Amino acid sequence: MTTMAKRDYYEILGVSKSATKDEIKSAYRKLALQYHPDRNPDNKEAEEKFKEATEAYEVLSDDAKRKRYDQFGHQGLRGGTDFGQYSNINDIFTHFSDIFGTTGSGSIFDEIFGMSGSTRGRSSSRRQTGERGADIKIRMPLTLEEIAKGTDKTVRVKKMISCTTCNGTGAKPGTGMTTCTTCNGTGEIRQVSRSMFGQFINVSTCPTCGGTGQIVKDPCSVCSGEGRIKGEATIKVSIPAGVSEGNYIPLRGQGNAGRRGGEAGDALIIIEEKQHEFFKRSGNDVLYNLIISYPDAALGGEVTVPTLEGPAVITIEPGTQPGAKITLRNKGIPQLNSYERGNHIIIVNIFVPTKLTTKEKTLLKELAKSPNIAPKPHEHKDSKDFFDKVREVFS
Ligand SMILES: [Zn+2]
Ligand SMILES: [Zn+2]
Repeated sequence: MTTMAKRDYYEILGVSKSATKDEIKSAYRKLALQYHPDRNPDNKEAEEKFKEATEAYEVLSDDAKRKRYDQFGHQGLRGGTDFGQYSNINDIFTHFSDIFGTTGSGSIFDEIFGMSGSTRGRSSSRRQTGERGADIKIRMPLTLEEIAKGTDKTVRVKKMISCTTCNGTGAKPGTGMTTCTTCNGTGEIRQVSRSMFGQFINVSTCPTCGGTGQIVKDPCSVCSGEGRIKGEATIKVSIPAGVSEGNYIPLRGQGNAGRRGGEAGDALIIIEEKQHEFFKRSGNDVLYNLIISYPDAALGGEVTVPTLEGPAVITIEPGTQPGAKITLRNKGIPQLNSYERGNHIIIVNIFVPTKLTTKEKTLLKELAKSPNIAPKPHEHKDSKDFFDKVREVFS
């Protein structure tokens, strides 16, 4: 089930990409009523359709999730091995707590049917394995240079790994499993309740066997029957150019090992941006505050500035004003998954000396008397332009 290619959510609900919330809700309600498991007992296809529609609704009915889906597709919402897909880490843990999971309230049903309690189908493919391992989060601080070029990283992490003594089964080698008596081997507990739609069946995972339907006769002494132990692993990740703070890269199956052979969780590589010595990132642009001497600003000349690609020589025009912006096009940070790049923006500031020798003081005083040196009384009228310029750069 997990390897099946996912269909487009809009296609599933049969609505257009520009569908309103009401259209989405009504499309889902129609499908949910049609394919509800209680109306289609033992109909696998209906159950799949029902789950598919519910998942689509859960995403498209939520503005933030819908936006993320529109932007990044399925991979934007959940882990995958494709490193090229990102979205914000916010609420990933809560919002995909598997809507067909085994606990919690049926929020979607509350909303659609105005009632609590729901039939919660579950994937039968999970029945033969233990509980899924938890995801692990790995913080990945990167320099702006690494972000601009993309980089490969290797990290060592502590996590739960499969017990090699029992091969993750939790059973002492040579001993077998026995049918769980709580659920009689079905792995689930069913509770029947009545509602306006008829009989609802609440299905939850058997707490004794964790849904496997089997329990170990004699637990493995190394892992105490857990099938997993504390360990370490090396994780390699390729980080493409253009990532931002808060992006994450999901590495499927590289999280904690599951209990008793359960599916491993995911490792989520969370991107952090290290503060740069000289630069400030603004979207995909890189800002640099260049401080030049007053004579250089007045006379013009060539100055060497740092960029993410190394030193670059730029020309300062004679009469350059404080706050002037010099843009080196396409020398900024690449747009993720695109050939576009931001700019390297140099903001010019004028150095005012704080320590002066007697000779320098004399020269400056002499210079100050010269007609073109001091601003004319009206020249502060340019201040507005200056503030606008600064605001534009820093906004
Ligand atoms: Zn073991
Ligand atoms: Zn059981």
